[in-house]
Amino acid sequence: MEKHILSKSTFLRGLQCAKSLYLYKNFIQLRDPVSAEQQSIFNRGNNVGVLAQQLFPNGTDATPAKRSDNISAVERTQQLIANGAEVIYEAAFQHEQVLAILDILVKKNGLWYAYEVKSSTKISPVYLLDASLQYWVITNSGLALEDISLVIINNQYVKKGEISIPELFSIRSVKKEALANQEMIAEKIAASKQVALSAQMPDVKIAEQCFSPYACDFMGNCWKNVPKDSVFEITGVSKPEQFLLYNAGHRLITEIPEENALDKFANIHIRAVKNKSVITDQPALKKFLEKAEYPLFFMDFETFMPAIPLYNDTKPYQHIPFQYSIHYKKSKEAPLEHFEFLAEQGMDPRKAFLLSILEHTKTEGAILVYDALMERNVLNGLKKDFPEYKNEIDARLERFLDLIIPFQERSYYHPAMKNSVSIKNVLPALVPDLSYNNLKIASGSMAMIAYEKLQKETDMFKLLEVREQLLEYCKMDTLAMVKLFEVLEKAAG
Ligand code: SF4
Repeated sequence: MEKHILSKSTFLRGLQCAKSLYLYKNFIQLRDPVSAEQQSIFNRGNNVGVLAQQLFPNGTDATPAKRSDNISAVERTQQLIANGAEVIYEAAFQHEQVLAILDILVKKNGLWYAYEVKSSTKISPVYLLDASLQYWVITNSGLALEDISLVIINNQYVKKGEISIPELFSIRSVKKEALANQEMIAEKIAASKQVALSAQMPDVKIAEQCFSPYACDFMGNCWKNVPKDSVFEITGVSKPEQFLLYNAGHRLITEIPEENALDKFANIHIRAVKNKSVITDQPALKKFLEKAEYPLFFMDFETFMPAIPLYNDTKPYQHIPFQYSIHYKKSKEAPLEHFEFLAEQGMDPRKAFLLSILEHTKTEGAILVYDALMERNVLNGLKKDFPEYKNEIDARLERFLDLIIPFQERSYYHPAMKNSVSIKNVLPALVPDLSYNNLKIASGSMAMIAYEKLQKETDMFKLLEVREQLLEYCKMDTLAMVKLFEVLEKAAG
């Protein structure tokens, strides 16, 4: 058997961009490094895949001793089928040098059924292409499939005691879609093989395909000549609109004409960049600050979203609060106080989180939150989980004041905000001395990943180190809010 030219992932890569496939085959060293967030998504996929095997227990894993030895995997799958195996995990097939590794292959009443597992709660167009390719390879390699299905996570499942595997997953046949795609798949395979074997790199310009369906991992290479302060740095403007400007020769924000089709906020940003000026609406700022009388609480939550629920009465991907930070100022002149909570790993954090936050916010004062939607949803969720605290939670929610409002309404706008009101853009623009750059955990998604990993951490030193990093990160979020508030107070005059 000859080594494969295309695998499922390189085939899908080629569908997104021929140049990406070529670079992957010939210059893989130019690939951008995998971020911690991406790695965590891969790991999550693997964990869910292993759990889904329990839908069809007692199978044989066809994975070879050396994972990259795909030829052995294909041969082992053939052997298992010939020897009468009825459930095979990681079943490998190859046809015309296209390799497909299927998550679960099952024989029922003499007929074969294929199952591909996804850690998502929805079926995307890419998953249908993925299943269509699997169907093409498996059936053309000589194994007739009675059906092919996608196994996804059922987001309506609520954990009660032990995880119920049949209820956690939903199975949907996609044979109809796979059959409809077969001709197209054959054509695309032929075209992709040509690209993969070509000595010539396809001439593909940067365009919307760089972001869809996934952010391409060769952007560090292809986008290196895009200048600083380009139109791509205007957050909130759609990719088609950005490319329309870029391809019309308006590469820099300063080159965008006065008359353009962009919205009001994008034009405020363009004006601020061109004039190199901060925009301040003092009456609007004063009106906002009137609602923010001392004493003030500056509060931020961190949550994590386990794909497989860890605690009773929770659903897959539910936001579970595990940490908060509060900075408190009794008066404008009073010293800054700090309170925090980080749940012990290995326990359901919700009740301890709730009791602690109610205690820390029991005295009067507005509770400032930056972009309060998640915090509101978390507290509303806790009301359902612990109805005996409903009144107290409602009392806290009534005191909420969203610090994002003056930025959202552009009552204060700095050109370095890049048309974004995310605190990660607003803080460096307004308070450049305070930065997340030196933190080991520097974003909400990194905090989410770190805490989820902690659930299985047994090394005490590592555990303490990560807990320290989480505390530092969350503290920074609320300190950032305090500093932003001070900027607004100053600007209001
Ligand atoms: S960055 Fe864009 S042009 Fe370059 S390989 Fe990726 S998708 Fe293709």
